[in-house]
Amino acid sequence: MTYQEKDLQYVLHTYKRNPICFDRGKGAVLYAGDSDYIDFMAGIAVCSVGHGNERLAQALYDQALKLIHVSNLYGITNQAELAERIVNLSGLDARIFFCNSGAEANEAAIKIARKNGEAQNRFKIISLRQSFHGRTIATLKATGQEKMHAHFAPYPDGFVHADNLAHVQQLLDDQTAAVLLELIKGEGGIECLNQSEMHALAKTLKERGILLMIDEVQSGIYRSGEFLASNLYGLQPDVVTLAKGLAGGVPIGAVLTTLKDIFAPGDHGSTFGGNPLATRAALCVLELLQNEKDSKRLAGRIELFWQKLAQMCEKFPQLFARRVGIGLMCGLQCARDELQTHVIEKCFAHRVLVLRSGANVVRFVPPLTINENEINEGFARFEAACATIEP
Ligand SMILES: *Cc1c(COP(=O)(O)O)cnc(C)c1O
Repeated sequence: MTYQEKDLQYVLHTYKRNPICFDRGKGAVLYAGDSDYIDFMAGIAVCSVGHGNERLAQALYDQALKLIHVSNLYGITNQAELAERIVNLSGLDARIFFCNSGAEANEAAIKIARKNGEAQNRFKIISLRQSFHGRTIATLKATGQEKMHAHFAPYPDGFVHADNLAHVQQLLDDQTAAVLLELIKGEGGIECLNQSEMHALAKTLKERGILLMIDEVQSGIYRSGEFLASNLYGLQPDVVTLAKGLAGGVPIGAVLTTLKDIFAPGDHGSTFGGNPLATRAALCVLELLQNEKDSKRLAGRIELFWQKLAQMCEKFPQLFARRVGIGLMCGLQCARDELQTHVIEKCFAHRVLVLRSGANVVRFVPPLTINENEINEGFARFEAACATIEP
């Protein structure tokens, strides 16, 4: 049997896979045999320091030889170091819980909101339509996309969806525990929330004792150009969730909260969460990315990337309406919805990998370490791909 036959035979059919299997990568280039692909999606905003990163590989090797896992019943030096580093970078006076994915980080956030609201019978969690917060039963219910709610009822109570920030303000009541938001909607069209509206909401929430919880699973870890998109917005959320880019592809999730004493032993836990291997990987990734930021190389890349996006809009006005997003979490909004699939398919044929987001955005979330040659080559291929599309 080929791998594809085995995949179909033995793996549940949860993904519509592209019929290609990459066998290695270097920087922002992926290889399938002799074919090279420019990677503008980084494993869905995960491979933040690129593929085949020697520093990360060495850190993993060294740690694996020493210790991979011991359980949270014992001290874990890397976990404590990582928590300190993330708290310092976030600028929040917070503590952290480590888990293994974005959905788990949001689950922990929901538990924080529920426990914090318990005494006052505040349990409602308001999130936005077109949001994405994960695939567990609770985070799926928090996800504001009805089409994803088919088949899995009943859901836990207390999840409310708002159309926009003004609607969030209207929905706030004495039972509201928290508002859970993505500042940049990763799966919902790379739409950015308005900064002054966000500040107004944050002020209202503070006055009313309702938690502001920002899902930075995709937007966090320098993707916006700042450590957190919340930093860029100048917000001080009560809860922030992280995952995707934090350990460069090693599974990890984290929830930061300024409610430093919210949990007592036994309230929450994770077998794998924060284990020596994953936290070592994250320490390495943060060191590398801090350097990219401090040296202004990250800012330079973002500028070049946005120039390229502007050129694509100029060259193909019949395909693209405008640029969207922030930093290296960006996209091109298609002039018509049906163009989205054409662009993505043609890009694949021209060996440049891009993602969809929402109904009409072509999403770019490349490695944060992508170099100038890779950006130039990727957009040369993107342009060649777009030139073949009949508008
Ligand atoms: C990817 C994502 C999640 C879910 O993360 P998993 O690791 O797949 O559970 C949650 N929220 C946002 C904003 C995401 O982009």
